[in-house]
Amino acid sequence: MKVTLKDKVVVVTGAGGGIGSAICEGVAKEGARIALCGGNNLEKLNASADIIREYGVDPYVLPGDLANMDFLTTCIDKIAQHFGRIDILINNAGIAHNAPFEETKMEDFDRIMNINVKVPFVLCQKVLPYLRESNHATIINIASVVAHKGYVNQAIYTASKHALHGFTKSLANEVYAENIRVHTVCPGGVFTDMVKVTRPDLTGEDMIMPEEIADIVLFLLTRRGNAVIDDICVRRAAKNPFDV
Ligand code: NAD
Repeated sequence: MKVTLKDKVVVVTGAGGGIGSAICEGVAKEGARIALCGGNNLEKLNASADIIREYGVDPYVLPGDLANMDFLTTCIDKIAQHFGRIDILINNAGIAHNAPFEETKMEDFDRIMNINVKVPFVLCQKVLPYLRESNHATIINIASVVAHKGYVNQAIYTASKHALHGFTKSLANEVYAENIRVHTVCPGGVFTDMVKVTRPDLTGEDMIMPEEIADIVLFLLTRRGNAVIDDICVRRAAKNPFDV
């Protein structure tokens, strides 16, 4: 059954980035209220907020470093205070790392695991009390095809996305009976700044567009029936279908 997002409160992390900005525009078109949570690039965050305003939506912009524990542990409460509720969390912020296994430093390990695993883990914990009050409670965690595969020179990024996908599966089962839906979206190469790090071999026309990932997120958010999707793996059309 297709349902509306009108007036639902959606939290998007990494909202100034390529996929995050497209997701914000997608949910703004559906009439949702949006919190842009975290990000140090104010110019990009404000650009995303301006796009949202074009749809008549007044976004709540909360800049900050999600690696900062004070910011991380207080941002959900601040958003709930601002809007009076939270219905949907989209954990989209992430960072990539490209290096041979033996050259991956411990500080890279900690930095990538922190942003790609610990941050969404903590935000999921913080948001659950609010989602329990919602009739549209949903969490979407943006992982990657490397939550399923392992690319050369991406050991730590791959480990982080496997971990994100792993805890998402457990959480989905834990809260399912409370009518809270939890999904992972696992994109292949998407045309954003990040892909220059993860897939420097790809060119624009080879890649998935951020709006295509936003459409998939919208599909998940606007269907609430008996058919539930756990995770979605999105491959580039240029790829061999048997090699996701
Ligand atoms: P992007 O670099 O354009 O966006 C990443 C966003 O995360 C930025 O807005 C950035 O500000 C935010 N972020 C990173 N560290 C942060 C921190 N410490 N505090 C606050 N915000 C922080 O990249 P993107 O491609 O839009 O990536 C979005 C998500 O999609 C990521 O989780 C990424 O791993 C995933 N992904 C991307 C691709 C791809 O090919 N682009 C493929 C699969 C998965």
